[in-house]
Amino acid sequence: MLVREEVFLFCFIVNLLNEVSMSFQTDTIHAGVGPDKAYGAIMTPIYQSSTFVFEDIGKHRGFDYTRSGNPTRKALEDNLCSLEGCSSAVAVTTGMAAITSTLNIFKSGDEIICTDDCYGGTSRLMKTVEEHFGIKVHFVNLQEASNLLLYVNESTKAVWVETPSNPLLNLVDIHAVALLAKTHGLLTIVDNTFLSPYGQKPFELGADIVVHSTTKYLNGHSDVVGGAVLSNSEDLDARLKFIVNALGTCAQPFDCWLVLRGIKTLVVRMREHERNAHAVAEYLEKHPKVKRVFYPGLPAHPQHELAKLQQRSFGGMVSFELEGGIEDVNRVLTGTKLFALAESLGGVESLIEHPATMSHASMDRDHREAAGITDTIIRLSIGIEDRDDLIEDLRIALG
Ligand SMILES: *Cc1c(COP(=O)(O)O)cnc(C)c1O
Repeated sequence: MLVREEVFLFCFIVNLLNEVSMSFQTDTIHAGVGPDKAYGAIMTPIYQSSTFVFEDIGKHRGFDYTRSGNPTRKALEDNLCSLEGCSSAVAVTTGMAAITSTLNIFKSGDEIICTDDCYGGTSRLMKTVEEHFGIKVHFVNLQEASNLLLYVNESTKAVWVETPSNPLLNLVDIHAVALLAKTHGLLTIVDNTFLSPYGQKPFELGADIVVHSTTKYLNGHSDVVGGAVLSNSEDLDARLKFIVNALGTCAQPFDCWLVLRGIKTLVVRMREHERNAHAVAEYLEKHPKVKRVFYPGLPAHPQHELAKLQQRSFGGMVSFELEGGIEDVNRVLTGTKLFALAESLGGVESLIEHPATMSHASMDRDHREAAGITDTIIRLSIGIEDRDDLIEDLRIALG
C-alpha cells in the first residue's frame, strides 16, 4: 500500500509528465487527469458537490462553489486544452451554451460575419441576438475567404466559421480567413464540432476562439449534452471565464465526467467513423438514385484539396441529394433499419436525418435555400458498426 507521501510523489510525477507535450492519442487518455490526490483513484472522481469547505477565512483548496469551478470540470477543461493546443478552456452545459457564452463578449452595435450554412441552432440564436441585443450578424458564403471583406466595417468584431459545414460539408479555409480577420482586427471563431481536435486544429491555423458541442464526437456515445469554449489569450480567457460564471452556463460534474470518459476513445472512434464514412460515400457516389454526394474525402468534392491540407481526417458525416421528390426522401428515411431516424451526430451508432424538416428546420426557408439545403438532401452520421452492414442497410432503403 502506498503511504500518503508516496501518493503525493506519484501524483507530482504524473502531473509533471502531463505538462510535457505528449502525442495526441496519449493526451486523450492522460492529459489533465492525474490520479486523484485524495486516494490515487485512476479515474477522475465525480465531485458532485455544490460547495467546498474553506480551511480558514479567505483560504480554500482551489474551489469554493461549483458554478465558479469544480475539480471534475477542471480535469475536462485541462484535457480539452491539451487536445486543441491552447491555453484555456471552459466546459459548459451544451454546444449552444458555448455559442451563447461566446456571443456575450460582444455588445450592442457590434457586427459579426458568420458562415451562411451553419448549424440551424446557431443561425436561430444569432438572429435572436440580433433582434434582442442589437448585434448585427451577416450570413456570408465564406468558401471564398475574401467574401468577408465585402462586409467588414468599423463595427465588425469577429468572423464565425463552421467547417466542415452542416449538412453540406462545405469547407472554409481557416488560415485564409484568420489572416484577413487579423489584418482588420477581427477575432476568428471556429466551431470545430464536426471534426473534433482529432480531425482539425483551428488554433494552429490562426483561430482565436474554438467552440465545441461536446455532445457529438468528443463524448461520442449519445448520452450527454455538453459544450466547451477554448481560447488562446489571457484576455479572452478572463472574459470568457467571467461570462460563464456570470451567466451560469457551466457544465455539471457528472456530465464532465462522461465527456472525459468518452474522449479516452476519441482516436479509435474517429478512425472507424472516417473509414466507414469513406466507404459509404463511395457506395452512394455510384448509386443511380443518388444525384450528388457531399463528403470532403471524395476527390469529386470541390474542396478536396483544402480538406487534405487543413484536416487530419475527412470526418464521419456524409450527406447526399436524392433523385426524385419528397416521397422518395421519406421512403429512404423510414426504410433503414440500422440507421436510426434521429437528429444529432457523432455517436457510435449510425443516424439518418432530413435537414430541411429536422436539424435545419429552425433556419427559415429563404436562408436554407440560399445556403443550398434543399428538401431532397439527406444527412448521415456514420457510426462505427460494421461497414458492410451499413451499406446493406442503405442498399435496401434506397430500393
Ligand atoms: C450540435 C451542434 C451545436 C449545438 O450543440 P448542442 O450540444 O446540441 O447544444 C453547435 N454546432 C454544431 C456544429 C453542432 O453540430
